[in-house]
Amino acid sequence: MKTEPLVVVWRVTERCNLQCPFCAYDRRLAKPRREADPAEIRRFAALLSQWSATTGRPVLLSWLGGEPLLWRPLAELTRACHHELQLQISTTTNGSTLHRPEVQAHLHEHYAELTVSVDGPAAMHDALRGCAGLSDRIRDGVRALAARKRHTGHGPLLRANVVLMRASLPDFPGLCSTLADWGIEEITCNQLGGLDRPEFYPANRLLPDRVRWLEEQWPALESSLACRGVRLLGGAAYLHRLTLTAQGRRLPVADCLPGRTFWFVDEKGRLAPCSFTPQDYGVPISNLRTAGDLLALPERFTLARACHRAVACEDCHSTQVFAKFSRSPAPALLPA
Ligand code: SF4
Repeated sequence: MKTEPLVVVWRVTERCNLQCPFCAYDRRLAKPRREADPAEIRRFAALLSQWSATTGRPVLLSWLGGEPLLWRPLAELTRACHHELQLQISTTTNGSTLHRPEVQAHLHEHYAELTVSVDGPAAMHDALRGCAGLSDRIRDGVRALAARKRHTGHGPLLRANVVLMRASLPDFPGLCSTLADWGIEEITCNQLGGLDRPEFYPANRLLPDRVRWLEEQWPALESSLACRGVRLLGGAAYLHRLTLTAQGRRLPVADCLPGRTFWFVDEKGRLAPCSFTPQDYGVPISNLRTAGDLLALPERFTLARACHRAVACEDCHSTQVFAKFSRSPAPALLPA
């Protein structure tokens, strides 16, 4: 049986070159942009490698931003984490550099997974993200990476993530087909959330009848993509989360098994069970010095949740809890 990896998502920069009206890191927003400390990433990655040797479980270290591929220290850090420490590397990118041959070569060489953000057909995607030609760059980059992978027999898993909004939802099945044409192997989706940009949310959020439509489309879409070798990720639990959000209903989670399979590290170096709770349960990575410190984290997070439950846990939006990637164990849910 395959050993379940520990996924560590690390937000390394708050800088981005695009202007997406739903995102907290839209380049037009005037605010301080923090970045992670490369030396701390290097030190902590070595600790992750020790943890992996101790537990026998692989670690997937996944860079997040802002736009991580524009953060200068990242390429060297990735080389070291991959070659010297044998960590698996992943990232989520806006794809704005994917057309560059040197970026493709680096991704091909060092990455286990690559997730590109694509939110709609080319014209819609480019307009939404304020970047003419962006969709074509992503297409060309994905095609080139898929061709390399076919040729060499190795290369990153190619995944696309789609933010579902009211206007773009009807195009989702067609978009999935286009992504399959490019060589994308897995497709995930997020529902537009309202925390980052509350001013954009009301007119663009999914409404209950639209989520019902999506649920009806899902089985046929899933099987038509499977016929082409493409996995549509996210099952019943994930669609249930989408439905409750659209209905404006909370989804409290009693026990998310915090810290067992997923850690999130923010740009300030706080490690938490998810991206919604660094301020509640975050542990400064500077305090984590040994593999034993890491082994104690699940228990530490469980105790922290028992002593003082974060507001976020009363309406959990952390997608891995709802088996978005089919890696997380099913959580114990409290009735809404
Ligand atoms: S918000 Fe969700 S994933 Fe995060 S700690 Fe709470 S229940 Fe767990």
